[in-house]
Amino acid sequence: MLQKEKEISLQAVGAAMAMAAAIQMEMTSRDTLTKTDRSPVTIADFAVQALICQILSCHFPGIPIVGEEDSLALRKPENRELFAKIIHYLRKNDAPMKEKEICDCIDLGGAEANGTIWTLDPIDGTKGFLRGEQFAIALALIQNGQVRLGILGCPNLPPASGGTLFWAIPGQGSWKIPARGGSAEPIRTSVKTDPRQMKFVESYESSHSDKDTQLEISRLLQIADPPEQMDSQVKYGIVAAGDADIYLRIPHPATLDYREKIWDHAAGSLIVEEAGGWVSDIDGKKLDFSLGKTLRNNRGILASNGRIHSRVLEIIAELAG
Ligand code: AMP
Ligand code: MG
Repeated sequence: MLQKEKEISLQAVGAAMAMAAAIQMEMTSRDTLTKTDRSPVTIADFAVQALICQILSCHFPGIPIVGEEDSLALRKPENRELFAKIIHYLRKNDAPMKEKEICDCIDLGGAEANGTIWTLDPIDGTKGFLRGEQFAIALALIQNGQVRLGILGCPNLPPASGGTLFWAIPGQGSWKIPARGGSAEPIRTSVKTDPRQMKFVESYESSHSDKDTQLEISRLLQIADPPEQMDSQVKYGIVAAGDADIYLRIPHPATLDYREKIWDHAAGSLIVEEAGGWVSDIDGKKLDFSLGKTLRNNRGILASNGRIHSRVLEIIAELAG
């Protein structure tokens, strides 16, 4: 089941990973724009969304795409010079496109989020991408709120040079493969039960979660190592592979009305669950992907190896008091 969807989307994300890694190496500050919400967007976000939307729409014309980006900023006359670079990278990926076609492909990602959809974050963790650190290309197939396929491309995740590709399908487990080729290996979350030996991961960006409370929780659990900061859904990948045990994202007090986006969690959460872990919000509720582009019925995120999940939820509830 979903064999064609899996094959095509793995190829698309694999190609996009190589392209994004090349852009990350060669980028200058002039390759970045600021969106209306003041967050950055780069030529890599545009090139990856154009490439993946082109491939998906060609093979699955009936499945709408809900992508993070649109071409509005790119269409402004003052940003025209960015097209030359995007065209250059797309051509290297055998996806020659002209300016209008690039914008049209990016805007294929403008669908409403209901029924059966692809959801795409072309560069999750753009701020990490700009720092030369971790980022992920995240793609998921959602049917009526159920995540049916999740793919995470993590170009900077060791040990393989070129990074690691993760994927999961409900009932078929979670898998990883070196992005430059090799054999697929099943992955499982860790079997640790002693919190002192656990690894706790959180966002790098201080404004994306409540790090003070997260540190307090890690202390109450008596975790020996300090929390490790990392950008993007790479955090879900390492929890799924058993290289971390707890990923916590408590809403930041300054942005309590922020609602998590489906493209930031659909792929990663399925990959953790299929690897044997648990994912919920910080009240212990399942993530609800049936409500449009945001997880508006959920607050924050907790992903874990399962064994420590209820304990972390208990501490969160006690602290909220
Ligand atoms: P991470 O590196 O795990 O923090 O994930 C990056 C994602 O955080 C981005 O794709 C944004 O959509 C999301 N983000 C932006 N602002 C916030 C916020 N105030 N609270 C939580 N997440 C945010
Ligand atoms: Mg994102």
